[in-house]
Amino acid sequence: TPVRIRRALISVSDKTGLLDFARALHGHGTELLSTGGTAAALREAGLPVRDVSEVTGFPEMMDGRVKTLHPMVHGGLLALRDNADHLAAMESHGIGAIDLLVVNLYPFEETVAKGADYATSVENIDIGGPAMIRAAAKNHAFVAVVTDAADYAPLLEEVAAHGGTTYAFRQRLALTAYARTAAYDSAVSTWLAAAIQEETPRWRSFAGRLAQPLRYGENPHQKAAFYTDGSNRPGVATAKQWQGKELSYNNINDTDAAFELVAEFAGEAPACAIIKHANPCGVGRGATLREAYQRAYTCDTTSAFGGIVALNGVLDGPTAEEIVKIFTEVVIAPEATDEAKAIFAAKKNLRLLTTGALPDASKGTLSFRQVAGGFLVQDSDVDTITASDLKVVTKRAPSGQELEDLFFAWKVAKHVKSNAIVYVKDGATVGIGAGQMSRVDSTMIGARKAGEIASALGLSESPAVGSVAASDAFFPFADGIEVLASVGVKAVIQPGGSMKDQDVIDTADRLGLAMVFTGQRHFRH
Ligand code: 5GP
Repeated sequence: TPVRIRRALISVSDKTGLLDFARALHGHGTELLSTGGTAAALREAGLPVRDVSEVTGFPEMMDGRVKTLHPMVHGGLLALRDNADHLAAMESHGIGAIDLLVVNLYPFEETVAKGADYATSVENIDIGGPAMIRAAAKNHAFVAVVTDAADYAPLLEEVAAHGGTTYAFRQRLALTAYARTAAYDSAVSTWLAAAIQEETPRWRSFAGRLAQPLRYGENPHQKAAFYTDGSNRPGVATAKQWQGKELSYNNINDTDAAFELVAEFAGEAPACAIIKHANPCGVGRGATLREAYQRAYTCDTTSAFGGIVALNGVLDGPTAEEIVKIFTEVVIAPEATDEAKAIFAAKKNLRLLTTGALPDASKGTLSFRQVAGGFLVQDSDVDTITASDLKVVTKRAPSGQELEDLFFAWKVAKHVKSNAIVYVKDGATVGIGAGQMSRVDSTMIGARKAGEIASALGLSESPAVGSVAASDAFFPFADGIEVLASVGVKAVIQPGGSMKDQDVIDTADRLGLAMVFTGQRHFRH
């Protein structure tokens, strides 16, 4: 039989939706117990409420560190209602049963995200809240626990339908409650690891909040959901979607890859990346975003079909006109003009996302990879190369234009699956070789792609002629350099560090190439 809610303890930091919810509970005849700030808010709204301090016989003390940590509270949450000993203990100590606990925690995650100092962050670690949540969740046989304002309405519906909470409903609330306290402690632990620069703590835990259940995963037979980590990094996790169907698992993955790539060009000329299967099939910059899009598209008009487009600036009408000429899955940009939105509105299936800002490419988050039996954790790959880090290793140094293209190619290569070879001419990719097991294969694929542009556009020569190339890791042999030179590449950027570096340099010199070493590698698997 459903458990009637005779008494509820409400203690919430985030008071969103509190009053309507409490009023509805009161309407069902529920007695309300509450802590300082929450009680004040309820009282101000004219609701009858009993202070927890009256129940415990202790004032809230030590700056709120000790409010509800008391047997009168925890006994009321933990007592088994069908156990004679427990009932006798309640009776002899005057402990009243609590049937519903409503708690949301001190905003630790938000406080840290705002850049609060150490002491302020520590003060925002909630103690009594998680203790009560865990107690109520353990006793879900009898007690309902709400830790999220999103569950206020479902709880009221439950009470309306059944006159109380059912066991199945309380089980689901308990599941959410334990995930919430686990996530909370994960946030504290992750923050502390960063604060004291402890890179390999004995235990690591990470948590997320459901942003969206997904229809399926990478393939239709895989179940999936999208969880956010609370970091609020501008991107697909925080974006506003203006139109189009729900994003799929693959859309989210590709949109992230696309937007993180164009973030490399924040504050620079208009830039555009088109992504397929998490790899760019074209990246371009131009005087306008429209031109940047056209140049990205030209790199691989076949692959761009059904791609994901990311822009580093405000999507405007002329760019939107250009994009709708072919089928595109998703467009993501910091902002979009009304004119652009109106143009997209005619394309019902095209999703438009705006984020308000670009993510900071100089700051990463942690990156994870799951393996059987565990997971790998690393800093995300943040590039730290500047012009002064480059070492010219060939007789010929790159020209100014070549150097600009080399930097562009290097930034793109960082976002291409290894082995990555990226051909660039005049601020646009003209061939990308991605994800091959041998570097020379990626080199040849990139060259072939450049040849395809020539035939598609009816050019007399491949745009690889006079281009530059970036390699995400060193050339193990000189064969890759020979391929680059044979298709007309003039300058190369790569980390260096191969046993065969001298051979590679000699080959570049012999074939008239300029080459720079970065000393930094960008594997991406
Ligand atoms: P209020 O705004 O009602 O004064 O405080 C509500 C907040 O206090 C909630 O976030 C709740 O989790 C937290 N809280 C409740 N009891 C305790 C306690 O004994 N110690 C601490 N540190 N926080 C508590």
